[in-house]
Amino acid sequence: MVYFWQRMLLPVSLLLVAAIFLWIAFDALVAVLFLALFILVYLTFHLYQLLLLENWLTDPENRAIPTGRGLWEEVFAQITKMIHNNRKDREQRIAALQHLEQATSALPEGVVILSAADRIEWCNPVAEHHFALNNAHDVGQQITYLVRQPEFIEYLAQQNFTEPLFMRGMRPHGLTLSIKLIHYGDARKLLISRDITRFERIETMRQDFVANVSHELRTPLTVVSGFVETLHDMPSLENDMARRALHLMSEQTQRMERLVDDLLTLSKLEDAHNPLQDESIDMPALLRTMHQEGLSLSGEQHQIILEIETELSLLGSYDELHSAFGNLLSNAIRYTPKGGEIFLRWQEQNGQLVFSVRDSGIGISPDHIPRLTERFYRVDKSRSRETGGTGLGLAIVKHVANRHQAQLIITSIEGEGSTFSILFPAKRSLLVMEKT
Ligand code: ADP
Repeated sequence: MVYFWQRMLLPVSLLLVAAIFLWIAFDALVAVLFLALFILVYLTFHLYQLLLLENWLTDPENRAIPTGRGLWEEVFAQITKMIHNNRKDREQRIAALQHLEQATSALPEGVVILSAADRIEWCNPVAEHHFALNNAHDVGQQITYLVRQPEFIEYLAQQNFTEPLFMRGMRPHGLTLSIKLIHYGDARKLLISRDITRFERIETMRQDFVANVSHELRTPLTVVSGFVETLHDMPSLENDMARRALHLMSEQTQRMERLVDDLLTLSKLEDAHNPLQDESIDMPALLRTMHQEGLSLSGEQHQIILEIETELSLLGSYDELHSAFGNLLSNAIRYTPKGGEIFLRWQEQNGQLVFSVRDSGIGISPDHIPRLTERFYRVDKSRSRETGGTGLGLAIVKHVANRHQAQLIITSIEGEGSTFSILFPAKRSLLVMEKT
């Protein structure tokens, strides 16, 4: 602005001097006419420059910016500078975007950007392969029109993405995918897919191997253990050493049988073709049965106390839950010194159903607790073996809990005792089921 007035000062002064001169030399009319003529020429000049600008603005990308005169020279120079800066800015942003796109395309995971309405905004080539998408045609499409598996539609609708979703047999390549959704920005979602076909194949091979080995071992073991028992019980066996050897052999074969049985139980629980068989379980009755079983297992060496606080029944698999609860009760007996107390409790707590076994036994130090459900993890190996443990009991409990969408919670104080609780969701309560 200052620059404008500096430039205008001289011509305006000259114009005024000329007008005053004409006024003195001739008269006021000549001076006014002179000024009017000058203003007319001046306006025509500016209109012409405006016309040039307007003409250029109709197609600024393809037309060269006009070279203005006087004040307009400065205006056009500023516009040229702005365009240049904008172009540079845009090129930098495009380069950054391309860079990001290249990096995302190089990811081994599939990436799909979804809008707030779950429409596809962009996907990388891996995602195109995983979901049979086409970035060129499918942008703007609702993802659920293209990925139509019911479990995916349900996962997307529930809006809780803490756990990944596993999708098997994805067409057309028959892939197994692990899918994760992440919220970001203004309600957009990032869908990340990982091909776990190979891992799943290896995991299936591992499960099959363990199941087959256990199965193959079972028959010979039963035969050996049967003969050992028979020999041991033979009245004609007089040799003491042989009797002791047979007693040891019998103990060890029984241990192996327990191990094989637990491995087979675990295999069954892991088998994807073995869905949960839900039935109505009268929990108070089951707890009473377990109470009797516990007393006989403990040889009445412990006080086993029943605490049935609700009559609610549970929806689940009787055999699986009986086995899981039995493992918890047998652990409580095995890890509680004689004379100790064990509480078997069934209660409703904050809408959840809770089965718990509390003991006054040896307890567990906090650093062991997170690892207890790992297979063969034992705090004290020899105590576990002496008491007939296989190291698989809590792994079985954890699997059974997972199959019932339940949570296993372990709390313990070393030297004072432990509590193992299984928290079942309210939807497994049978009265709730009847209401709905
Ligand atoms: P195990 O057959 O060895 O008992 P589990 O899987 O049932 O195997 O348990 C794993 C380990 O957890 C046990 O070896 C033991 O150290 C510990 N444990 C389980 N239950 C109890 C309990 N009630 N009190 C103390 N320790 C326990």
